Amino acid sequence: MIPYIFNIQKFSVHDGPGVRTTIFFKGCPIRCMWCHNPESQKYKPEVMKNRDGKEEMIGKQYTIKQLVKIVQADQIFYDQSGGGVTLSGGEVMTQDMDYIEELVKEFHRIGISVVIDTCGVVPPSNYERILPYTDLFLYDLKLINSQMHTKYTGVSNDLVLENLKLISNHRGKINLRLILIKDVNVDDQAICGIVDWLQEQNISIESINLLPYHDFGRDKYRNLNRECTQNFEKPSDERMNEIKEYFEKAGYSVKVGG
Ligand code: SF4
Repeated sequence: MIPYIFNIQKFSVHDGPGVRTTIFFKGCPIRCMWCHNPESQKYKPEVMKNRDGKEEMIGKQYTIKQLVKIVQADQIFYDQSGGGVTLSGGEVMTQDMDYIEELVKEFHRIGISVVIDTCGVVPPSNYERILPYTDLFLYDLKLINSQMHTKYTGVSNDLVLENLKLISNHRGKINLRLILIKDVNVDDQAICGIVDWLQEQNISIESINLLPYHDFGRDKYRNLNRECTQNFEKPSDERMNEIKEYFEKAGYSVKVGG
């Protein structure tokens, strides 16, 4: 089935290197309590109020040819900046993989760099299909403790860790993205646990981005006629810096923000 897309963002500078076009696929297999893109969660189109308060249907299908044309229009900017296309979501890797594989192969064939933004809760064979054509993975790791992961996302982190190993073993480039939330995943145990696991498993990481929680998605829940039950806070700047230093001392290249 042709996947649904809920946004195509041009001139994006936070979704991988350089200037990029980011394609947001609709549908996600998990439910993070802090999700700021609730319109990305369902796989089918749905009604959402826009900024003017008018209802509109979000979720549109594009052929591969149409998407390639939209992305290719800005190739000059990718070439100048080292950018390309980022496939995001929702979870792009749980879409129809025949479609995604063909799309990624086509970008690769015409020389447009491909970044995949993924939460890792994906059948491992899906990554194997696109690894040879993917330049970088933006890989979310939310919690190293599986029980806590289940509590906050609805599923264990078994696949997240398995797929991180798989990508590293296949020499895929990984930018690890850690969303950090006060009283959820920023205590010493949570942070040291990630570093210990990465090192024990010999996972090769290009860089790490530390992303403090924000609640910009609150209005979106209202616009979808859904209740927003989020009651989270971002960590203090001081704690963010401590975490950054901790990862740096462990030998990683770290940035705060996207
Ligand atoms: S993985 Fe991303 S899109 Fe899916 S529920 Fe979590 S925050 Fe939302």
